[in-house]
Amino acid sequence: MVFEMTIYWETCSLCFRHDPVKQCGLVSDVMVCIHCCISCIKREVCPRKAWVLETGERVVKKSLKEEVEKFLEEIEFLSSKSGGKSSGKI
Ligand SMILES: [Zn+2]
Repeated sequence: MVFEMTIYWETCSLCFRHDPVKQCGLVSDVMVCIHCCISCIKREVCPRKAWVLETGERVVKKSLKEEVEKFLEEIEFLSSKSGGKSSGKI
């Protein structure tokens, strides 16, 4: 559903922080910021969590993968620079 994905830049109904808010999954007329949603005591039983950390976790994994690829490229660059015809010495 479209309205579930909507992010509003408003004031949180719980902490009154001026942050992006989403509609609470438990109370339909409550708009929660990511901080209140994550620290909510009802989170385990919430049928539709307004904020899910999955996206952030993916971003972390992606940047980590990029770091590893960059590291491997550097190793390849250094090993090719130190003479490809060497007798196995690194
Ligand atoms: Zn809040």
